[in-house]
Amino acid sequence: MKENYITYLKFLDEKLTRFFELQKEYICCHKGCSLCCQNAEFPYSKLEVQYLAAGFFTLGSSTQELIEKKVYSLKELKKNFHGEHFLYECPFLINNMCSVYEYRGIVCRTFGLLALSGDKKVKTPFCCFKGLNYSKVFDHKTKQLSDTKVQKLGYKNAPLGFNISYEFLTSPDFERGFNIKFGEKKPLLDWFYK
Ligand code: SF4
Ligand code: SF4
Repeated sequence: MKENYITYLKFLDEKLTRFFELQKEYICCHKGCSLCCQNAEFPYSKLEVQYLAAGFFTLGSSTQELIEKKVYSLKELKKNFHGEHFLYECPFLINNMCSVYEYRGIVCRTFGLLALSGDKKVKTPFCCFKGLNYSKVFDHKTKQLSDTKVQKLGYKNAPLGFNISYEFLTSPDFERGFNIKFGEKKPLLDWFYK
């Protein structure tokens, strides 16, 4: 199963690399930029968490302890949270870098692109509103990407949305195609001890 999942990740990474390349004019992602890891729920399936755990065990003991402490603190904070979505900084983020980069989950690999939703609406990445990806062509009045800005600023390619929703990328079609089973899905934090 693990080998099949690695094959799937390779397929996914190739696909996403192509998408990022096509949209590189609009992308500001770089090493050390980590806003996307700082305020979300991070959906993870059982399969992804098992792979992430394999990455965790490659880390040195002091890094493991640091991550465990972060998880513990977040779990304590969550106990007193009564809203619908508990948003948090991922405990695997250390010094603004992912400590388990090669082992990170699917949603982490898609951060930063424009996503096409089921009704064909384009969803801008969260960091667009922080002056990063696609922000130069986003019109805050209409709350949409602006063709006028694209033309005015002389971008060669139009902004493109891709079908990269978590639901799609972990759908039964991919399970069958790669002979994998994603299993239960829930926020990353909820996979850790009670
Ligand atoms: S997706 Fe946005 S926040 Fe994340 S690395 Fe790229 S530019 Fe930075
Ligand atoms: S696993 Fe890594 S890439 Fe994913 S949210 Fe956490 S720090 Fe960011």
